Amino acid sequence: MLVSEIYLKVIALFSKVSNVLLELFYPLHCDGCDVALFEKSHLCQECWGSLKPLAKPFCEICSCKIVADARCPNCADRKLHFVAGVSAFQYDGLMRTLLYRLKYGRDQRLKKVMGELLVPALQDERLQGIFFEAIVPVPLHPRSEREREFNQAQLLACEVALHYQRPLKSLLQCLRPASPQARSDRKKRMEHRKNLFSLRLPQQLSGNYLLVDDVLTTGATLDACAKALLEAGAEGVWAITVAR
Ligand SMILES: [Zn+2]
Ligand SMILES: [Zn+2]
Repeated sequence: MLVSEIYLKVIALFSKVSNVLLELFYPLHCDGCDVALFEKSHLCQECWGSLKPLAKPFCEICSCKIVADARCPNCADRKLHFVAGVSAFQYDGLMRTLLYRLKYGRDQRLKKVMGELLVPALQDERLQGIFFEAIVPVPLHPRSEREREFNQAQLLACEVALHYQRPLKSLLQCLRPASPQARSDRKKRMEHRKNLFSLRLPQQLSGNYLLVDDVLTTGATLDACAKALLEAGAEGVWAITVAR
């Protein structure tokens, strides 16, 4: 046996032993309820079962729940700039708690479970067969990003970019900090979001882009982001979020 082969075997053995030791001292725990896990998921079966997948019928554009064949109560009276905003789960219960912890709890370890929770949205038929030039996170205003220490949309976008094997590009910037009244009132919220985003650097875009955020509510934020990308030359913009 060559010395180099022995060397490689020793390295492989060392990495196996260190993995076993890591699992012994730091076993995987459920990100929802902290129970010890023996599977490769980051959520236990019970927590998975408590999440509510978005069920049809929903609006093809904004994924809002609708009565079959009825007009969408969220977007029928306005033209959204994205082709489809795809989401995996309803924004309540455990999903709300996990996203809150990701957003305000500075818990970046939740990045992995978020990657898992995005899978059903990534498999949505509305996203199949599209070639994306880049994956674009919805930006935070620099003041909010300083306060929270990171942008949760950026973490989610990393997972999406890994899935598609496409580049992650922070093309957009947020021009104004969030206004407190704009959070509660739907009309004010939509007004505040208008022209809220612009390209970070002036440039000519082409092709399709996929926006990533944590939650889709009225779609006003994603709409304003999509508008900025289209005005810079993007051909089509889609959006993906974990919850709706
Ligand atoms: Zn659990
Ligand atoms: Zn809709």
